[in-house]
Amino acid sequence: ITMSDPVLDHQICVCVRKRPRNKKEKNKKEIDVITIPDKYTTLVHEPKLKVDLTKYLENQKFRFDYSFNENASNEMVYRYTAQPLIATIFEGGMATCFAYGQTGSGKTHTMGGDFSGKEQDCTKGIYAYTARDVFILNSQSKYQDLSLKICASFFEIYGGKVFDLLRNRKKLQILEDGKQQVQVVGLSEKEVKSTEDVLDLIKIGSGIRTSGTTSANSHSSRSHAVFQIIIRKGKANKLHGKFSLIDLAGNERGADTSSANRQTRMEGAEINKSLLALKECIRALGRKGGYTPFRASKLTQVLRDSFIGENSKTCMIATISPGMSSCEHTLNTLRYADRVKEL
Ligand code: ADP
Ligand code: MG
Repeated sequence: ITMSDPVLDHQICVCVRKRPRNKKEKNKKEIDVITIPDKYTTLVHEPKLKVDLTKYLENQKFRFDYSFNENASNEMVYRYTAQPLIATIFEGGMATCFAYGQTGSGKTHTMGGDFSGKEQDCTKGIYAYTARDVFILNSQSKYQDLSLKICASFFEIYGGKVFDLLRNRKKLQILEDGKQQVQVVGLSEKEVKSTEDVLDLIKIGSGIRTSGTTSANSHSSRSHAVFQIIIRKGKANKLHGKFSLIDLAGNERGADTSSANRQTRMEGAEINKSLLALKECIRALGRKGGYTPFRASKLTQVLRDSFIGENSKTCMIATISPGMSSCEHTLNTLRYADRVKEL
């Protein structure tokens, strides 16, 4: 693999990925309402009723840095999103890659790999591809001489609290010092020497994430998972660069604010708050300067250092389901992604 593959050379890159129809959708003969006519454009055919109650489809058009159709592989998506940002962390910068979308639209599949089978396969997700290429770049002579140390951490944010996914979901505190540096206290950071080392950590963390006390899917759909590859330098292990790969909570959960269950309602409000703050923080990055509302949520607080500095880059992969029954959530996802795009 070459590092000079497709480069979307700007600070914020926003892509859309449509997943294929699954068995259930095919069995129910659900109509596919998404068309990707070219590599930039996503069309939604929204079903509407006329006044005389006849049905028609209203086409809505969105343009992004890239629109991936249902035939795109994880590796292809990776090459246009996270891969071009790897050099940034070797140059001492910060990179982030978010998967944003409705539950069931393919966020975890894109970031972590395929966990649907009996055997989880985390070798074909963006976490693993990023790790692989970090080691490739680290062995190139211009970086080899720097004697960089590569580490990884994996945590989740659930209900506004932080839990270590490499330490059996230990609850962690967030502290902010006088210089507004945010620290997740006691977060495990494991040194990794190879892609295999990283895969072991992904397996452990993903396993812990889906082994929630409540039903597994409902837990992980309400939590943001943050996998980080951290580069340190010198005897003092000074932070050199960091790549944060984030599998966000299902965006439809942010609408749970009217649920009868108090806990669900509070978690929904927290998700809503964090996704709004995230959007504003990314937009502020694109505007360079101006107010960045880190403090508005735990998610943006812990990602604070990724949104400041000259050399911070970010990409968002908005994942969408093809079915007509998801149409409303899909439009919400696309509108959000549209707002994140660089102005
Ligand atoms: P999310 O994390 O957004 O809730 P998942 O990643 O768990 O969604 O995807 C839901 C289901 O759809 C899983 O069984 C996953 O394997 C499958 N899936 C998602 N995206 C794709 C894709 N691009 N190709 C094939 N299967 C996919
Ligand atoms: Mg998921």
